[in-house]
Amino acid sequence: MAFNVAIDGPAGAGKSSAAKLAAGKLGFIYVDTGALYRAVGLYSIRRGLDTRDEESVVNTLGSISIELKFIDGAQRVFLNGEDVSDAIRTPEASMGASNVSAIPEVRDFLFELQRGIAAHNDCIMDGRDIGTVVLPDAEVKIFLTASPEARADRRLKELIKKGETADRQTVLDDINKRDYQDTHRKTAPLTCAGDAVYLDNGELDLEQTADRIIEIVKEKM
Ligand code: C5P
Repeated sequence: MAFNVAIDGPAGAGKSSAAKLAAGKLGFIYVDTGALYRAVGLYSIRRGLDTRDEESVVNTLGSISIELKFIDGAQRVFLNGEDVSDAIRTPEASMGASNVSAIPEVRDFLFELQRGIAAHNDCIMDGRDIGTVVLPDAEVKIFLTASPEARADRRLKELIKKGETADRQTVLDDINKRDYQDTHRKTAPLTCAGDAVYLDNGELDLEQTADRIIEIVKEKM
């Protein structure tokens, strides 16, 4: 049977980087479920639709096919056969993802894909509802978080490193807005599962966060 680790938490908690590093060290695959919501959002954005308009987003689902491939351990996301792994990383796609993720039909549409991967692979899967909805029986559940300010500062550093211009207040506002949307939506809101380990990594760097995840996993193995 596959060994599943569910990591949930708000935007900018460093889930992806820490989960990817920990998965590599454990020999697990790393599954970034946010990429799936981003791909659905990107499709609507490209068609000029309002990602908050439930009906038009739901109408697109019949013409979308999403696939995750793991190439040298790294996840790539394909939207109707096109590798959109880089195109989904814009701030516009982030907000689009947050908007479409509030739509129950979108969550249902992506559910089986996530379950199927977890059933067949030892994996660390990260998202917002992995421990609560997608993999309620995961062997390990972690809720990874830090204060909005700490998360905004990290995001800002990443953007600057990529050579992009960004203003701290805009990044912080974006994080607060996504936190609000993700925790207040009706379907599968972001919340810490009752049986999850709560990990605040405000004072931990990436390596320390990954090491802590590995320790938690090893305790359960
Ligand atoms: O993790 P990431 O920031 O890439 O996720 C983008 C958006 O997708 C989040 O703001 C959240 O609204 C949504 N999401 C979700 N459930 C997941 C993963 C992501 O609702 N399991």
